[in-house]
Amino acid sequence: MKIIGNFVDGKLTQVTPTNYISLFKPTTGEEYAHVPITPKDEFQKIIEKMKIAQSIWSETPITKRSGVFFKFKSLIEKNFDEIAKIISEEHGKVFSDAKGSLQRGLEVVDFACGIPHLLKGNHSVNVGTNVDSYDIRQPLGICAGITPFNFPAMVPLWMFPLSIACGNAFILKPSEKVPQCSLRLAELLSEAGLPENILTIVNGDKSVVDLILQSPDISSVSFVGSTPVAKYIYTECSNNNKRVQALGGAKNHMLIMEDANLEDAVNGLIGAAFGSAGERCMATSVAIPIGKIQKPFMELLKDKTSKIKLGESLDPQSEMGPLITKEHKQKVLSYIEKGVSEGADLEIDGRNLSLQGFDNGNFVGPTIFNNVKTNMTIYKEEIFGPVLSVVNLDNFEEAMKIINNHEYGNGTSIYTSNGTFARNFMKNVQIGMVGINVPIPVPMAFYSFGGWKGSIFGGHGMHGEEGINFYTKRKTVTSRWPDDVAGASLNMPTMK
Ligand code: NAD
Repeated sequence: MKIIGNFVDGKLTQVTPTNYISLFKPTTGEEYAHVPITPKDEFQKIIEKMKIAQSIWSETPITKRSGVFFKFKSLIEKNFDEIAKIISEEHGKVFSDAKGSLQRGLEVVDFACGIPHLLKGNHSVNVGTNVDSYDIRQPLGICAGITPFNFPAMVPLWMFPLSIACGNAFILKPSEKVPQCSLRLAELLSEAGLPENILTIVNGDKSVVDLILQSPDISSVSFVGSTPVAKYIYTECSNNNKRVQALGGAKNHMLIMEDANLEDAVNGLIGAAFGSAGERCMATSVAIPIGKIQKPFMELLKDKTSKIKLGESLDPQSEMGPLITKEHKQKVLSYIEKGVSEGADLEIDGRNLSLQGFDNGNFVGPTIFNNVKTNMTIYKEEIFGPVLSVVNLDNFEEAMKIINNHEYGNGTSIYTSNGTFARNFMKNVQIGMVGINVPIPVPMAFYSFGGWKGSIFGGHGMHGEEGINFYTKRKTVTSRWPDDVAGASLNMPTMK
């Protein structure tokens, strides 16, 4: 059995015999590896090494730091297919989709290459007579990241390149379901010239998360995962005075107006609902067709959905792979049963799917419910599988009301050819990332990623300007070089 270790001292390391978690291939159900749960004493030794390494790294000239990321970028490009294959094998998403997600992560590395420009501060000359004022941004120290299973490369890449480029050290605890991709990225960053123990990877479960949350040596925590865990991370970090960004779950709506290009909208919806088997925080899980298009919309949607090819993740013919684990498959199936028992119309049923040779794989086919109501469980909760709910409404106002009333606020989109609807939607929808005739509006790395409401705790988005602000502390300096000595005064100083 393959034993997966940690990444410490610039290399893959084995963890002292300990408890471990078994990993099973999503496509076949076969057990293929054990991942360790890092014990407390080993965790603490790693932190001590990181403290020393970070004090040197933070003094390393900024152009040398950015130079490491230029090399890292070219190493990812050189090993692109190999990394995408690891993503496909451990997560189950198809190879072309794995490549797309790696590309989105690589864009953050591109952004980190620009760190000399991004860390330039403000400087005002003569804010008072012979008095200057300026801002500098300094690193936090040791930052931590805790990541979900659904983007084995992209989400870690949202975090550690920017944090490290800012002068921090970074300890990553990847999802215990997909530990291998981060280890490979860490090897490449080491090859690119990153000094030892500036990036470390510790594997494990909640017990390792708790070591991070309780460590007085860790200044900040970046979390991406489900909303209950995001809330827990946010509360614990706030109690321990750590800076925290905690991105949670989602229920993303697509609104299709009567004037939309129906073919374009349905094509966009198919990819957004069923790509990566619905295991994306930006997946569209609710579609709202308006008025007279409802019937043709459903016909077209069913026709196109029935042609989606499920299969083994690395088969170039496959468009959709399996879910991550047997337990998750059971959870998705139980939501489908709940939808039926609550009275939604099951138009396409993804249960009881049989794929020759993959009987033990975690496959669930694309599933569509029609006439879903807002009080149904399948509408209210995040399913995180290939299950699309269609809510039929009469007008724009009704749609805005339900989108804005939903607990989650990650992403949303509108399909329309009418600028007035589009602008009204953009301006008034209570959601963090908005698409106009764009199904999955994931911002580029030089903008920030993050939702609103129950999809984020702590208010700081990932990457872009918010990422730079998150991974640095601002210090504002007021300086004066006097020729003469002013008299003492107990009054509040003002600029003269
Ligand atoms: P998860 O919350 O179960 O796990 C995320 C991380 O938290 C993992 O590293 C895991 O080890 C750890 N963890 C799990 N339970 C914990 C607990 N009780 N206490 C402390 N740590 C714990 O999430 P997941 O199933 O890996 O990922 C899917 C979820 O992530 C979905 O809800 C999805 O919407 C969300 N997600 C959100 C975004 C976003 O940007 N908003 C992006 C990707 C995924």
